[in-house]
Amino acid sequence: MTTVLFLGLGHMGGPMAANLAAAGHRVLGFDLVPEALEKARAAGIETVTDTAAAAAEADVVLTMLPNGRLVLDVYRGREGAPGLLDAARPGTVFLDCSTIDVAEAREAAQAAEAAGMRAADAPVSGGQVGAEAGTLAFMVGAADEVYAEVLPLLEVMGGRIVHCGGSGLGQAAKICNNMVLGVTQIAVAEAFVLGERLGLEHQALYDVMSKASGQCWSLTTNCPVPGPVPGSPANRDFQPGFAGALMAKDLGLALAALDEQGVAADLGRLAQAKYAEYAAGEGAARDFSGIIEDIRASHTD
Ligand code: NAD
Repeated sequence: MTTVLFLGLGHMGGPMAANLAAAGHRVLGFDLVPEALEKARAAGIETVTDTAAAAAEADVVLTMLPNGRLVLDVYRGREGAPGLLDAARPGTVFLDCSTIDVAEAREAAQAAEAAGMRAADAPVSGGQVGAEAGTLAFMVGAADEVYAEVLPLLEVMGGRIVHCGGSGLGQAAKICNNMVLGVTQIAVAEAFVLGERLGLEHQALYDVMSKASGQCWSLTTNCPVPGPVPGSPANRDFQPGFAGALMAKDLGLALAALDEQGVAADLGRLAQAKYAEYAAGEGAARDFSGIIEDIRASHTD
């Protein structure tokens, strides 16, 4: 049994923590939202108010938070609140499963190691459905021995786990994948809109592309028109799924990494701009494949 201090019991963290508790681990949980704490207690999690004291009892401090700034604040402390790196026992593993900037992930790992702790970044894909079912995909950046230690926990929460390399490389893999996803979802939508204008039935185009070289996840799972893939968000007025706000966030992280590394990546940058615009409106709460409606509404002169 491992004692896990779990911070961030939201859409993803709540069910992930519940799965750890159900598997027999001792889970100490903290969130800022009272309803999240109430739900966690019902799932067998011991909620705490003093996170520093809880960190001193934990083998693993797991964060599932909205952004990297919050992760760093939790690690190092902020405005008088003690940092958990000062409170935990030496050698405690700081496992961050949030999706954050690669540079911030590396900064967090360095801060942890400088404080005598061990660190891993393990962002996920699979959404709330995967978090509830315990089938998330984890992309892990960690030293070999830290990876080996967190693997049994990740196996409780996930279905597919890939060790991508050292610190920050889990986040790197996640943003590279989501950059492809953002670009391909737009490309597939553009193909359907062009097909519509040319008089092609959605099903006919789907039947061709899904067996041809245009085949991809954005078409065969997340098809942006209703009909060909009955489970895709297009069949339920683009209820997510994967919300536009989350795609915009991930592409923002990709953009930061592109700039930092000096990579031109025209398509990734264009996708980032388009999803930032989409998420500034109603697209924030709709599935990211709903961007097809913006493409359909736009015309050249
Ligand atoms: P969420 O907003 O539902 O949950 C985040 C939780 O963190 C909230 O309950 C919030 O109150 C809590 N929180 C904020 N500051 C805190 C602090 N200092 N201490 C303790 N708790 C704090 O977000 P989510 O959808 O669960 O996403 C969490 C992370 O997972 C994000 O980084 C997101 O990008 C990533 N992610 C989300 C999805 C998805 O489909 N929702 C998929 C993959 C990855």
